Amino acid sequence: MHDDQERIGFEDNAAIVVRGGVVEAVTTADAVRDRPAVERLDAVGQVALPGLVNCHTHAPMVALRGVAEDLPTEEWFNDVVWPVESNLTEKDVELGARLACAEMIRGGVTCFADHYFSMDAVAAVVDECGIRAHLGEAYFSSQGPQGREKSLEFALRQRGGADGRITTALAPHAPYTVDDADLAATAELAREHGLPVHLHASENRDQAETSLARHGVTPIEVLKRTGILDVDVLIAHGTGILDRDLPVLRAASGHTAVATAPRGYLKFAWSTTTPVRALHDIGIPVGLATDGAASNNSLDVWESMALTALIQKSTTGDPRWLTSRQALHHATLQSARAVGLGDVVGSIAPGRRADIILVDLTGPHTQPVHDLAATLVHSARSSDVRTTIVDGRVLMRDRELLTIDVPAVVGELGERMPALLDRSHGKRIQEYDA
Ligand SMILES: [Zn+2]
Repeated sequence: MHDDQERIGFEDNAAIVVRGGVVEAVTTADAVRDRPAVERLDAVGQVALPGLVNCHTHAPMVALRGVAEDLPTEEWFNDVVWPVESNLTEKDVELGARLACAEMIRGGVTCFADHYFSMDAVAAVVDECGIRAHLGEAYFSSQGPQGREKSLEFALRQRGGADGRITTALAPHAPYTVDDADLAATAELAREHGLPVHLHASENRDQAETSLARHGVTPIEVLKRTGILDVDVLIAHGTGILDRDLPVLRAASGHTAVATAPRGYLKFAWSTTTPVRALHDIGIPVGLATDGAASNNSLDVWESMALTALIQKSTTGDPRWLTSRQALHHATLQSARAVGLGDVVGSIAPGRRADIILVDLTGPHTQPVHDLAATLVHSARSSDVRTTIVDGRVLMRDRELLTIDVPAVVGELGERMPALLDRSHGKRIQEYDA
């Protein structure tokens, strides 16, 4: 249960009635004891939570988990990731997406926002495995106008797919790889077709400073002058958001949200993190994310939640910011809002889609429970999620995945690795210079 003041509530001995993929009622276990049901899940000793939302990832990049370690951002992109991605085939994307969905469902993620290439393959995996997703076909200006057109075509074709579980966005890569004219044209298309925009911007402080030195404006100011802030936009990272950007973001006429993926920032040794408190003060929701597994090494949103709470305490020097309840609010309602589903998922309440996870708190590392929010944020782990439900359909029951065959995916993906990882051609899909 939630309200808009970042307060959340828990109910003891509750029962959730789901019909047609929608939460029909939240009542007591006693009230439904004799009620007939097609399926009844007993969750004694467990907590039901809204499914987690991974607000920014590149799911197929699980195939590159661990291939570019202990490197600065520029070398990570230019020497490894972008050369390797020039080998990507649709089959690699499909298998990577399937493995990623398995990992996310196992970790209690019921929806993810993906920003990648060959996204029709990702959409097909979403359809088949039952998860919910917000998908965008990524593009660079180096692709010419075809990149943008392909992103639009994908967004229009897949919108509402997988029985309504797929929503879509236009997905320019970032202001340092997509020029102003292309961003302005994207904003125009977003307005014309009622589509949101999902992109990377002001990912780190270096990018903000380089943009200021070269163009006299910050990446956020670029979004403003190209009209991107006039439409609904999901900004990945924003750790380079400066004080001068805050009034610009506050004045945005579209719905603006930021996705934070803190593990990667720590790994890249970025000097700043997403300014969650400053964004809170200007009313901008911050959703939790993992980014791709090539930088984050996991798609564990549970971990993003704990890290966000810890890093906020550390960077603000204030143990009262962020509280566990606030962290849960980011993980649920704010994340749902960030991907444009604020009225659809993000809380367990009548009328919401039934995206629900059951978390086992009987383990020694979670007992006793004195403060349930703290137990969930700081003691529980993604492996404590026992059951994952999307749209009323059980995708994992008692830790067993029902829609994905992991050994088969791992086997097939493994055979493709030599071709995928070959960098002898000397090509790369893009140049990092930001
Ligand atoms: Zn990203």
